[in-house]
Amino acid sequence: MSQTIAAIATPPGQGGIAVVRISGPEAHAVAARVFQPVGNRKLETAKGYTAMFGHFVWQGRVQDELVALSFRAPRSYTGEDVVELSCHGGEAAPRLLLQAVVESGAAPAGPGEFTRRAFENGRISLTQAEAVMDLIGATGRQSAAVAAAALEGALAKRIQGLRDQLTALAGHLAAWVDFPEEDVPALEQQALESTLTGCMAQLDAMIQSYGAGAVLRRGVDTAIVGSPNVGKSTLLNLLAGFERAIVTPIAGTTRDVVEQQVQLGQVRLNLFDTAGLRQTGDLVEAEGIRRSYAQMDKAGLVLAVFDASRPTDPADIELARKCAGRPALAILNKTDLDRAFDAEAIRPCFADLVEISAREDRFLPVLASAIEKLLGVAAIDPDAGLLASQRQLEAAVSARTALQDALAARQQGFDLDAVGVCIDDALHALYRLTGEEASAAVVDEVFSKFCVGK
Ligand code: GDP
Repeated sequence: MSQTIAAIATPPGQGGIAVVRISGPEAHAVAARVFQPVGNRKLETAKGYTAMFGHFVWQGRVQDELVALSFRAPRSYTGEDVVELSCHGGEAAPRLLLQAVVESGAAPAGPGEFTRRAFENGRISLTQAEAVMDLIGATGRQSAAVAAAALEGALAKRIQGLRDQLTALAGHLAAWVDFPEEDVPALEQQALESTLTGCMAQLDAMIQSYGAGAVLRRGVDTAIVGSPNVGKSTLLNLLAGFERAIVTPIAGTTRDVVEQQVQLGQVRLNLFDTAGLRQTGDLVEAEGIRRSYAQMDKAGLVLAVFDASRPTDPADIELARKCAGRPALAILNKTDLDRAFDAEAIRPCFADLVEISAREDRFLPVLASAIEKLLGVAAIDPDAGLLASQRQLEAAVSARTALQDALAARQQGFDLDAVGVCIDDALHALYRLTGEEASAAVVDEVFSKFCVGK
């Protein structure tokens, strides 16, 4: 831990500035070997939260202009001494600066190593570390808000609240069981049960909102399905904003699964344009249809397109039936033409039905809000503290199961010892969730997903 590390903290590519971040006990000494401040200031003795202008001097030459930001332990991102050197952006300047810093005594940082140090120095919890990664990856305003709230500790606080209640309960139970002679007041059956059910309800809410939160973070795999010529490719192009799929008036032109990621409102759709869902003798097209049904099975969102200008036919009814019980939105397209379609025949199979013309982009907001509502992201409160990873979800589920066991043990008349053991299990699961009891392997796994420089 005592090693001083360095990495480029900004993404590669052309940009105004880039930042090389150095963290560790030698941060200032290392930086001073490559940075010459103007005037007679000295970086080695700089206080925290100060900035200095100067030059990157290396191999006897001025290589660039620099601004050095100084942070002193423990008031820095990592909790250690930190220097951030801002140089000009692009490929060459930051790389040369990093090379000079490494040759001056810093070790190249591994992926997520700065954030890992922040975690290991107690600056942030594991859930906050995971939030850092989510914030970097956020594509929509709401996903950024959720990640920012997690970074501020919304989830950690919510878990802490649960732990406080359960710890008090466990303490009371232990006192009562272990020191019967001490006159500890008996725990009311009802009080015990209401604390357990209250904590379970909170965990349930968190577990239920996981899916919507995951949609915000990672987007949703979306299948566009419908009979040939209803306007699926036109819809894809509308969503993508350019001609991604070939649109033709000849049935069956989209034979392969075409993929495209688009940001629609708060949700990123990972779109699969699919072959027309029609019975066919054509082998290539049959393969396309088989694939599009497979996409529908994997999809977290199905956009089922119908042609409003055509009478409802058996294929439409079959598709609607296939959509029942799925996260599927019925899209009645071509509403700019005369209406022949009976929407009521398919409506009961869908959570919602929207009427659009895929040729007009004024329908994008209509689609966006219907999709946000369908996936539950519209109802997300960023400050409620959302579970942000499969790891967190599993810990929350085990805590909930343990509380269920505690309640069952009590209701079946087992002694309080057994109840106490279950509550302890729940507490351990919650400690795992926030990382206070996470194994080294779990911590490695979390940070392995980070980028270098964060
Ligand atoms: P797909 O086979 O389902 O992918 O259908 P396409 O997207 O290729 O569209 C078939 C035909 O319908 C094309 O000629 C489109 O221009 C046309 N079309 C698509 N959407 C609309 C719409 O909203 N209104 C009208 N009038 N025509 C549309």
